[in-house]
Amino acid sequence: MQFDLDVTGRKVVVLGTDHGARRAVARFVRGGARVTLVSPDGPPATRVDTVRHVGAPAAHDTSALLRLIGPAWLVVSVDPPPALRDRVAELCGHLKVMTTSEAPAETTGSVTLVGGGPGRTGLLTLEAVESLAAADVVFYDRLAPTDDLAGLAPAAELVDVGKSPFHHKVEQRSIEEQIVDRALAGQSVVRLKGGDPFVFGRGGEEMLACLGAGVRVRVVPGVSSAVAVPAACGIPVTHRGLSHAFTVISGHQRPTEAELDGLTRLGGTIVVLMGIVNLEQIAVGLLRAGMDPATPAAVVERAYSDSQRSTFSRLGTLAADARRLQVASPAVVVIGAVVSVAPELADAARVIDHLPEWAGALAPDGAADRSSP
Ligand code: SAH
Repeated sequence: MQFDLDVTGRKVVVLGTDHGARRAVARFVRGGARVTLVSPDGPPATRVDTVRHVGAPAAHDTSALLRLIGPAWLVVSVDPPPALRDRVAELCGHLKVMTTSEAPAETTGSVTLVGGGPGRTGLLTLEAVESLAAADVVFYDRLAPTDDLAGLAPAAELVDVGKSPFHHKVEQRSIEEQIVDRALAGQSVVRLKGGDPFVFGRGGEEMLACLGAGVRVRVVPGVSSAVAVPAACGIPVTHRGLSHAFTVISGHQRPTEAELDGLTRLGGTIVVLMGIVNLEQIAVGLLRAGMDPATPAAVVERAYSDSQRSTFSRLGTLAADARRLQVASPAVVVIGAVVSVAPELADAARVIDHLPEWAGALAPDGAADRSSP
């Protein structure tokens, strides 16, 4: 069982080594507790001013132990010597002081590349949440779920290396250097990315940078916007009888004629990420390659946010609709018959001006810009 306690102003005694207990200390400090670290390492050369740091008394030195834990509200045992741990537990029992224990923080540094999903905290995986909880530092992106980050990574320093298209706040090389340096310094580093780290996320480059520097690296896959953003407005990327394949492309660079031709001939659903800037070229290119202008298409902007907006159109009018409605990144473009499955079409309340034929049976007079939560 787990429950939340407000530790503001409470006296919390943490028993453990400087290194092993660093995460517990950081978390209780962040929570507003008055923290004393009782460490066999003795007082450190540099004091963190919010933390009182004392050398651990011997396990048989009852009076010294009582002075430490007597006034405590909570005693947290991380990695003290076993004799000290047992004696403190015994004394806390007599004094009715709450105790808890937790595993020590890792002693060797590592990097975990974590997929944060399409932006909603609830779409983080359990492993992503665990990794954040154990992090000393989190380097996060613009598209990662950031609203609850301080709560999810209570012991971590949070570093914004946010990227937006064509505007890399921090250069990729510099991100790689920073995560490697922190891990080499012994920290547990989380690199939190939007969606899945290996889908247009440069996660592979960061993994190779870590391996090249001899840093332990692990990947926690995430829910990719390639499937989750269409789903946010009810578009399945495959659908029996309509599409048995989907191709995910980046619109960051204009597709070549050969690619456009291949996409058109393959059939199935086309999902375009980072596609707004080149939407016109992509749509016109697919038409030129022979794709039917009546092919259903949709743009889903800012999925899973309060300002999510889905625009339904068809390939022939997609670029014009997108321009007129000023669709903006981040957005996912979906092209293919599966778009007609979206239940949002059925109650497309805020109608724009034209109705795709394929949606005729669903929405009586117009297609379909619909702002949806
Ligand atoms: N690794 C990410 C993709 C990174 S590329 C993943 O697997 O999802 C960034 C692109 O993802 C954006 O330009 C946009 O096309 C898409 N995207 C990510 N999150 C989105 C969201 N919440 N709403 C709409 N598009 C999103």
